[in-house]
Amino acid sequence: MDFSPTVSQEELVAIRRALHSHAESGLSEFWTTSFLAEKLAALGCEVHLGEEVMDRAVMMGSPSPEVQKKRLQAALEQGADPKWIEKMDGLTGLMVDIRPDLPMHSVLRFDIDCVDVSESHDADHKPAAESFASINEGECHACAHDGHATIGLGVAMELMRRRDALKHNVRLIFEPAEEGSRGALPMVSAGLVDGARYFLAAHIGVNARQDHALVCGTHGFLATTKFDVELFGLAAHSGSDPHKGHNSLLAAATILLNLHALPRHGEGASRVTVGMLSGGTGRNVIPDHAKLVCETRGATEEINQYMFDKAKLIIEHVAAMYEQEVKITIMGTAGNAISDKKMIDVVRQAAQDVPYFHKDRITGLGAGFGTDDACTFLSAVQKQGGAGTYCQIGSVLDAGHHNPRFDFNEDLLQPAVELFCRSTFLMDVME
Ligand SMILES: [Zn+2]
Ligand SMILES: [Zn+2]
Repeated sequence: MDFSPTVSQEELVAIRRALHSHAESGLSEFWTTSFLAEKLAALGCEVHLGEEVMDRAVMMGSPSPEVQKKRLQAALEQGADPKWIEKMDGLTGLMVDIRPDLPMHSVLRFDIDCVDVSESHDADHKPAAESFASINEGECHACAHDGHATIGLGVAMELMRRRDALKHNVRLIFEPAEEGSRGALPMVSAGLVDGARYFLAAHIGVNARQDHALVCGTHGFLATTKFDVELFGLAAHSGSDPHKGHNSLLAAATILLNLHALPRHGEGASRVTVGMLSGGTGRNVIPDHAKLVCETRGATEEINQYMFDKAKLIIEHVAAMYEQEVKITIMGTAGNAISDKKMIDVVRQAAQDVPYFHKDRITGLGAGFGTDDACTFLSAVQKQGGAGTYCQIGSVLDAGHHNPRFDFNEDLLQPAVELFCRSTFLMDVME
């Protein structure tokens, strides 16, 4: 079969830049979902969205209703199609099946959300210089998910053109809210990977920082729990009645220091971070409220659980010490999963035939960093006897992931589409 992409590099760049300039934060990707749905429907795909793809019952870390309303309004003003917005029913993300008439077989996953960071306006930052920087202040595609969504759309185009040659169904998942590990679980819970034998996801960059490079599998992601801690104390006059107050900020500060002092697990890496701390109402008032925004991570799900359980113990006991009411809310979770050799070999074989990738820059299993909730999809597929991999598509990066000056090399877009397409047809003939 001829796998050379019919979608042009120029078309892919235009799509990527449209997505980049409309960067949207996790669970608020209204414009993005509408844009993708319109393009996929035009290809002849039946687009599944809303509760068909997201199980509301297990959703975590949703923005407040006020924030959602504001972002939805902005998306409509920026041209999101009300027809798709209505079908979303407040839920972003979508899914299409290339051959819904055939048995479920392989799943390709593309994440679509951005990072909560303000994009650089520096003259040497390409998106700013070439007028496709984010129009949404505080929301920026600083993790290349605009590239991932573009590749997904390109793959849909190529697979639809070759759909008659497929023996099995191929499902394309466009996942919202990968950041904060909030998107995968509701999609798995909605049954999107049920019956899947093979799973493929990719990230631009990560530890692949050379152009024309490809890492065909990943290990070393950390399992994670994201959680908020709210403390409720008692306000009092700081001059006359400090003894009558229950100081929430003091409790929060004690929690912060003690979380970072947690004894570490002997069997693998662990992390704990308090990323934000806020509280109090005024200079001369004993603070009656405080909030900590935290996360734990671990090399295994057990180590992460150990970190979270210990953190919880400290939070509850410090709260008691300072006479605080305490509320702990889980905002997101992701497991860890290691790519399977069988699928690493599939991608490696596919890459051999994509001229863009230099043969001496195609490697097997490589280390990842941080967390990607693609692991939640992958481990669900592995638990039902399937296999999968998570690749790293090489790019020289202007700045690291989540930096306001992050940008990647657009030249990789068309080759990445071809890589996914070739890999899909290799998976299609596997048991
Ligand atoms: Zn990221
Ligand atoms: Zn990312």
